Amino acid sequence: MLDILLLLDQPNDHSVASFSVSEDAVLYNIPNTLTRTSHFLTHPVFNTHHSETEMMRYIKRLENKDLSLNTSMISLGSCTMKLNAASEMIPLSWQHWSKMHPFAPADQTEGYKQITDELSSYLCDITAFDACSLQPNSGAQGEYAGLLVIRAYHASRNEAHRNVMLIPISAHGTNPASAVMAGMKVVVVKALENGYIDVEDLKAKAEQHSQNLAGIMITYPSTYGVYEETVKDITKIIHQHGGQVYMDGANMNAQVGLTAPGLIGADVCHLNLHKTFAIPHGGGGPGMGPICVKAHLAKFLPGHVSLGNRHSSMGNGQLTAENSTSIHHAVSAAPYGSTSILLISYAYIRMLGAAGVRNATEYAILNANYMRARLEGQYDILYTNHNGECAHEFIVDLRPFKKSAEIEAEDVAKRLMDYGFHAPTLSFPVPGTIMIEPTESEDKAELDRFCDAMLSIREEIRAIEEGKADKKDNALKNAPHTQHVVISSDWKHGYTREQAAFPLSYIRENKFWPSVARVNNTYGDRNLICTCEPVSSYVEAEA
Ligand SMILES: *Cc1c(COP(=O)(O)O)cnc(C)c1O
Repeated sequence: MLDILLLLDQPNDHSVASFSVSEDAVLYNIPNTLTRTSHFLTHPVFNTHHSETEMMRYIKRLENKDLSLNTSMISLGSCTMKLNAASEMIPLSWQHWSKMHPFAPADQTEGYKQITDELSSYLCDITAFDACSLQPNSGAQGEYAGLLVIRAYHASRNEAHRNVMLIPISAHGTNPASAVMAGMKVVVVKALENGYIDVEDLKAKAEQHSQNLAGIMITYPSTYGVYEETVKDITKIIHQHGGQVYMDGANMNAQVGLTAPGLIGADVCHLNLHKTFAIPHGGGGPGMGPICVKAHLAKFLPGHVSLGNRHSSMGNGQLTAENSTSIHHAVSAAPYGSTSILLISYAYIRMLGAAGVRNATEYAILNANYMRARLEGQYDILYTNHNGECAHEFIVDLRPFKKSAEIEAEDVAKRLMDYGFHAPTLSFPVPGTIMIEPTESEDKAELDRFCDAMLSIREEIRAIEEGKADKKDNALKNAPHTQHVVISSDWKHGYTREQAAFPLSYIRENKFWPSVARVNNTYGDRNLICTCEPVSSYVEAEA
């Protein structure tokens, strides 16, 4: 160590000498008109943490405000917030993976090529498709890429006019957005009472737009959390009218090893590797949304200049540069998207193996149905199949409580924070509901804690319904309760502090304190608020 320090001290080491920067250094190559005259980074946060010790504590304080998987389960339906195992993530910190440039020459990236080739073929196996492009960086970008592939396919058959995309009312918002971006016209298909796609409406619309039908975007199991037995009829109808079937793969955690998009009649799908295949997500972190396609679409997969406009894809060996008529232009900057994080999904699949990934799917479904069964009777479960079962997630209807107790879905979501839980997905795909997806990563004890919390909240709602608790001043309407509020000498509520912050005994062992109380959502959405105020002003506002 000392040797290194001595080396750095050599006066003729220019690389070190050039680091010295003087206060009034001027960069002469920047025109006067472009030099900054305003102040910047004036918020105290940028000039209060001067030592590494203070910086470390500041970052830890920020972390403490965040309820993440290291506190309790995050049951965000449709988002598949599963374990991101340490063993899957460790390779990202290894230099020989992390220091690679995305455009490094092929003869220097053979290790990566092995990983991307093998991963592509695993994903083809899992989807029962023939070729894969690892280029798209998110599910939404995968949708966009997949729809461009469909467009290119129609164009190659002199049917470039096919531009109508059918999208069920239950679809994720990215579906219609991607269709519009890909230059298509969106036609919405209705749902039945039980949440299934209305096949009669679908038939009628496919017929009506038969001449111009590009295809359909479906999610399976649907975003309502049920496997529709009609899914094969749906894909058949679309094919009869010359359309292609895009399957949104966000719910693959309910399919892997049990069924596959290729088996239910889809032609192309994306996979959210940051959902089903263990890449961490949330906070806008990097995702990966590769697309897999049937053989007839393989030649239309995205290309990339760094590959000499060859495919960024591979299938079960049959794809070559020569037969390429791809959509040619890339859909993202790098040929294989955010390549380094593919290591996580690769490790997930390799370490679990075929039996393991299937097991994961089975546990995900079992866990969801266990929770559904515990909550049933106390809450209305919105959609189930004819056996009363859900897939890997289910929707709890909270709308009845609006009438019975003036309680809204948001109140339940906020109250769960007092119980130490992140809220499930709120008001998607149905307003006034929550969608719970436990994943296979949670053990029974954690599932039970969450159910206990939900059942305890149901009793709190019942107390309001029966007039035992006030309609305005209750633990739900005032949730979440901050430490500041609970310890205040000025406690005027009609329930105890213990009820507010420690409503069940398990909470004593692992209390999470929300750092802010309820904010006015609508006001916040409609008014642009500058966050450059001193942090102290927020404390005053909360008080
Ligand atoms: C998450 C999700 C998407 C979009 O995926 P991103 O990776 O977030 O872009 C699309 N459809 C469904 C059903 C989803 O849950």
